[in-house]
Amino acid sequence: MIRFENVGKRYGMGAEVLSDISFTLEPGSLHVLTGPSGAGKSTLLRLLYLDQRPTRGSVQMFGHDVTRLARRQLPAFRRRIGVVFQDFQLLDHMSALDNVALPLRIAGDLPEERIQGFVRELLSWVGLGDRLNAKPPTLSGGEQQRVAIARAVIGKPDLLLADEPTGNVDPSMAQRLTRLFVELNRLGTTTVIATHDLTLAESIGGARMQLAHGQLLAVGGGGGAPRVA
Ligand code: ADP
Ligand code: ADP
Repeated sequence: MIRFENVGKRYGMGAEVLSDISFTLEPGSLHVLTGPSGAGKSTLLRLLYLDQRPTRGSVQMFGHDVTRLARRQLPAFRRRIGVVFQDFQLLDHMSALDNVALPLRIAGDLPEERIQGFVRELLSWVGLGDRLNAKPPTLSGGEQQRVAIARAVIGKPDLLLADEPTGNVDPSMAQRLTRLFVELNRLGTTTVIATHDLTLAESIGGARMQLAHGQLLAVGGGGGAPRVA
């Protein structure tokens, strides 16, 4: 379970980007985070990824108040979180296969042969079976996006965060990627997908979390709305 209580966030001396955000994400729930550009979606995802600390309030995650963690404790928590960044953040000197294999190699509990098998299967499923050895700079934006998604989901994380994950692909690939998220969620991964694309939000279903001016407005949706305190 993930719980935000009265969370506020400002960057530097700026105005609050998020104010007094409180919500609970039940294990295995699926949420679509919507709101216009600048509403604070990426900031909320960065708090969930422990890339930023809130300026006030508490964040409970995996049984800990993560706002109190020391920097050296962060990697262990982040390994339980899969992230699809808006700018992908792939390693340009590594092949698509190696980028996607990385989380499994770091986890270190599977033999290399099985890692390669899983990675090939997943990359084929997202239509990149013939680009396994390509390095990110030689891939199109949509192809890079699919590598980033594969890397985020390969380790079956406890929490999956995706920031505008289908912004660079055509509608049929967007549907396929959406199915990947929904299937992973059915396997128990708590999932938060941020998008300003309301058509995508509809097709994902799940519970809507809507941000406006740094405030969270709960809107009902398929899987039951998140409980907003
Ligand atoms: P969204 O993802 O909904 O577009 P963001 O979380 O990216 O919203 O941005 C919310 C607000 O926070 C915007 O006004 C943005 O300019 C500001 N902001 C985001 N990141 C930073 C940063 N690193 N430093 C200062 N201001 C930031
Ligand atoms: P410093 O602020 O001196 O650079 P920190 O360890 O406080 O060192 O922070 C390093 C980066 O990691 C910052 O971006 C910080 O916001 C983030 N960070 C550190 N600890 C946490 C935490 N427990 N939760 C979320 N983000 C964290």
